[in-house]
Amino acid sequence: MTDHTCPCGSGKKFQGCCNLYLSGQAYPNTAETLMRSRYSAYAMGNLAYLRKTWHPDTYPDLSQEDLETQWTRLEVIKTKPGLKKSVVEFKAWYLENEQEHVIHEVSLFKLYKKRWVYLEALPGWPEEGKN
Ligand SMILES: [Zn+2]
Repeated sequence: MTDHTCPCGSGKKFQGCCNLYLSGQAYPNTAETLMRSRYSAYAMGNLAYLRKTWHPDTYPDLSQEDLETQWTRLEVIKTKPGLKKSVVEFKAWYLENEQEHVIHEVSLFKLYKKRWVYLEALPGWPEEGKN
């Protein structure tokens, strides 16, 4: 199970990649790593990890049924790291009715209790200098 390639698209084995975070052995130290690990959590139905990495103000009270989507791949397009806020733009593909669909999102991550957490999806890239 842990010997396969990581769902996040890093090319590494799951064991030495997102499994470190999903199993609680480590916590991602950048928003991009967090984003990748959250994708892996979606792909593997790890509800506890999604909750742990979601800002409590915006956590939507997910249920296990929300995680039944069959994710196929992730592409991180652009990252803007900041001291307290970071932005990550990505595309994530999933299967529905045997067809591949894509979600294209610009996500905002925030430092919360000294850890990166997911806050919300943005309507687009924030203007420069507002970080
Ligand atoms: Zn990974």
